[in-house]
This record gives sequence, structure tokens and C-alpha cells, in this order.
Amino acid sequence: SGQVTVLDSKALERALTRICYEIVERNEGLDQLVIVGIRTRGAYLAQRMAAKLSSLSDVDVPISELDITLYRDDLDPNEHRERPQNPVLSGNNVPRDLAGKTVVLVDDVLFTGRTVRAALDALLDTGRPDRILLAVMVDRGHRELPVRADFVGKNIPTSLGEAVDVRVTEVDGEDAVTIRKV
Ligand code: 5GP
Ligand code: MG
Repeated sequence: SGQVTVLDSKALERALTRICYEIVERNEGLDQLVIVGIRTRGAYLAQRMAAKLSSLSDVDVPISELDITLYRDDLDPNEHRERPQNPVLSGNNVPRDLAGKTVVLVDDVLFTGRTVRAALDALLDTGRPDRILLAVMVDRGHRELPVRADFVGKNIPTSLGEAVDVRVTEVDGEDAVTIRKV
């Protein structure tokens, strides 16, 4: 069906594990860490990373999720949608104020960078974290904003005529990254 598997379930799991070790290397202890996943699939990847990071340390790493749909800068302004009052949804012991924290923002695919820009906007509305790092499972290129990821599962140079499908067990019944022509 013209679909190519780029990461199978084992490779996806290995990529998540490697990213977690890289996060440990970049942080002096994990006490200040907060993992924030971008809905939908970024939030599931974030949950798994928080679990791995917690098992690598004595710290129960807090996790939260963000729905940035209403923060995108390319929505039709005539639709007059309201921004959510509190875009950072609470998870387990998430600090209300991000001051003093290092936030690791997690998404499945990085493309133009507009979702990440919007997520930064939403995060900064909730306080002033010391630092924000970005982790994505796939960087497919085609940036329209000066955004780069600190942690990447897999760089996949794509054409605009291709779509990347990131499947996670929680939603899709399996873990996989595939590419197909659209
Ligand atoms: P951006 O805002 O960087 O253009 O796109 C990133 C967001 O859109 C991510 O939240 C991601 O879920 C979604 N996205 C963009 N392109 C793709 C793609 O090719 N495949 C998948 N699965 N998601 C994409
Ligand atoms: Mg998304």
C-alpha cells in the first residue's frame, strides 16, 4: 500500500529510552523536571517518558498535558474561539507555577514549528519556567519558524507529498512510525 515502516515498536521504544537517558545527561538530578505532552499522541509519549525517567531516578517525575489547538496562529480569526482559561491540564503533582522548573515539552511530530510556538505561548502563560526543552519522536523537516528539537527520536526528511503516521498503542493499538504518500 506504499506505506514504509520507519520505526517498528522495538525501535520506537528504544528511541524513547535513549531520549530519556539524554534528558538525564542534560539535567543535574531530575527534581526540577516537569514533562508536558502535547495532545494527543505527544501526551502518551510524555507519559511513557515520565515513567521511564521516574524508574531511572528516585524522583516521581510530574507529567502534564497541553491542548494547544486554540493557541495556533493559523486558525481562522473570524471563528472567535475562546482560549482555554487554563491550557496546562493538571496531571500527577504538577506544580501550578513552573518557576524554577525545567519543562520538557513532548510531541510526536515536529513539522512547521507552529504547534511548538503555540505551546511555548501557552506554557509561558502559566508561569516562567527556568528552561524549556523540546523532545519529538519525529522531525520531518519543513520548518516555517526558528524552532529546533533538543531530543529527536528519528529525523525523517520528508517531501510535502508524504505523511508521517505515528501510532501509539494507547490510541492506535500498536507502536509504529510509518510514511506514506498522500
Ligand atoms: P507543526 O505545528 O510543526 O506544523 O506540526 C506539528 C503538529 O502537527 C504535531 O502536533 C503533530 O502531531 C502534527 N503533525 C504535523 N505533521 C504531521 C505528520 O506528518 N504526521 C503526524 N502524525 N502529525 C503531524
Ligand atoms: Mg499533534
